[in-house]
Amino acid sequence: MALSSRRGLQLAQLLEQEGVSDNRVLTAIANIPRDIFIPDALKHKAYQNTALPIGQGQTISQPYIVAKMTELLLKADNTPKRILEIGTGSGYQTAILAGIFEQVFSVERIKSLQFQAKRRMNQLDFHNISMKHGDGWEGWKSKAPFDGIIVTAAAAELPQALVDQLNDGGRLIIPVGNDQQQLKCIDRKGDEFIEQTIEAVRFVPLVAGALL
Ligand code: SAH
Repeated sequence: MALSSRRGLQLAQLLEQEGVSDNRVLTAIANIPRDIFIPDALKHKAYQNTALPIGQGQTISQPYIVAKMTELLLKADNTPKRILEIGTGSGYQTAILAGIFEQVFSVERIKSLQFQAKRRMNQLDFHNISMKHGDGWEGWKSKAPFDGIIVTAAAAELPQALVDQLNDGGRLIIPVGNDQQQLKCIDRKGDEFIEQTIEAVRFVPLVAGALL
């Protein structure tokens, strides 16, 4: 992993003030250079705590929400090792996850974004990430089960395939809703699924079907 930059450290400190407390998450934020995930014209905003456009009508998530969702994954009952991410986008969240967890699987429906994200992962020298161009509503069945699943686009309803691909003791974190979205956390305990609502959020929609 790259050594932390001054701006990365400042961003981590800002997130700590905002209530992010897990050191593994703060270290990953300090170490991953966010500017390489941002289009040239917006690079000067790379270390601000805001979502930014990445082309194709998509956005790189706000660092606070990236950190928050990663923290929620770390609080799963089991010690999570295998993580599935739906919505690779720029790959920034993927890189944060890969800095913390053993194995990360990530699915993106827009080919050009997936291609760029893959290049960035090679640039950062991560070898614990598998990426796929596909429809995230279906999850990634051949690699299931996962200890944690994180969805970085808002689903109109809970995708059943993702619930089905959760390991026992595993946790699914997903924004649900259209105009009004809530971040939900679903914990699997045996055959039981326990749902919690975390907070109101704003994500681009999780699109069903047609790949681009
Ligand atoms: N974590 C990303 C967020 C990107 S925005 C980042 O911080 O850069 C959400 C992403 O989800 C977009 O790239 C969008 O193309 C993707 N997406 C939307 N619906 C999807 C689906 N059904 N399957 C896979 N990816 C999807």
